[in-house]
Amino acid sequence: MFKNFKNIDKVVYGRGAFSLIGEILASKRNSNDQFFVFIVDEYFRNKALISRIPLTEKDVLLFENVDRHEPTTEQIDFLRDEILQKHGLPAGVVGIGGGSIMDIAKAVSLMLTNEGSSTLYQGLNLIKKPGVYHLGVPTISGTGAECSSTAVLTGPVKKLGLKCEWTVFNQVILDPELIASVPDNWWFNTGMDTFIHCIESETGTLNNAFSHAYAEQALKLCYDVFLFEKSGRSAENDDKLMVASLMGGLSLSYSEVGVCHALSYGLSKILDYRHCYANCVVFQHLGDIYQKGVHEFEQMVVKNKISLPKNLSADWNDETITKMANVAFNLPHMWDHALGENWQSTVTIDWIKSLYKRM
Ligand code: NAD
Ligand code: ZN
Repeated sequence: MFKNFKNIDKVVYGRGAFSLIGEILASKRNSNDQFFVFIVDEYFRNKALISRIPLTEKDVLLFENVDRHEPTTEQIDFLRDEILQKHGLPAGVVGIGGGSIMDIAKAVSLMLTNEGSSTLYQGLNLIKKPGVYHLGVPTISGTGAECSSTAVLTGPVKKLGLKCEWTVFNQVILDPELIASVPDNWWFNTGMDTFIHCIESETGTLNNAFSHAYAEQALKLCYDVFLFEKSGRSAENDDKLMVASLMGGLSLSYSEVGVCHALSYGLSKILDYRHCYANCVVFQHLGDIYQKGVHEFEQMVVKNKISLPKNLSADWNDETITKMANVAFNLPHMWDHALGENWQSTVTIDWIKSLYKRM
């Protein structure tokens, strides 16, 4: 089983690295209609960061509110149509924000050159043409969306990514100064996404020396940030978390996620739970599958004074649980990795429902 994984073309890392953005974009300005589209998380609208964006007269600055919902196909199609109709074809798209904005920037860049609705391209290698140049500046760390080859979108039928080599950013700027303002609950939940990526990547049939090397290092960084003596919020830990997120993402790109992500997708699709929070809700109940990982997770929950909901399933009727179980069941690549080629002997709709009933 080989994966010929496409990595980010260029990455710059370090405190203050955001100030390189003008220099980096300068050499890219001459293509297409010679302007850039900056898609920025609404949170930054009146923040000092905006004045550091190297806007020229022709550039377009768009603020997106990611609090209402995770990125949708409708939202991407609308943004693409607006940009093309009002301004033309940009030289590139820059995303500044968390995992949601990373995915929006990647998806818009692809959809600017691919005709029709983005719903047509949800899946693996369905995109027909490379998108325009795209640059990502993550402002929350954990999802690994800054390095992944997918832009996850919720459509009318599926929650599935635009997944192909061209999805991967051409350039990423990792500036740990930008994550200092993340609210504590998002800092923890999104950070735990990386921890869970590593545990799931490591605990399955696709793990190998390559994915292991990334996960091992990312886990060390996670322990420093969330568990060990000097854990908690600090500049030094922000430096580490930003690298952990990237390495966790690279690890799972060579391996795969597992049971927690399969169940978490069910919660997100049917009950609209946000990805990283959904993972935390699920993971605490998987002690029999990921013994060491769940034990460490519980310690991190206590250490960081996080409270996770209990007895959620008491409010879910059988129809809701069955719908979630069906979403989770239809992710065979995750089950295969987590439980091996005979996964179908364990994984039935009833068994998945029993896992949801633990929550
Ligand atoms: P997010 O982008 O959804 O943002 C969460 C919240 O944090 C928002 O309120 C946002 O405004 C705020 N925020 C962002 N940066 C901030 C900052 N520096 N200071 C203060 N507030 C800030 O959060 P996320 O957890 O990074 O991303 C979740 C999304 O990532 C989901 O849509 C999920 O589907 C996607 N995802 C993608 C991949 C991938 O490989 N493409 C992997 C995992 C998750
Ligand atoms: Zn994840």
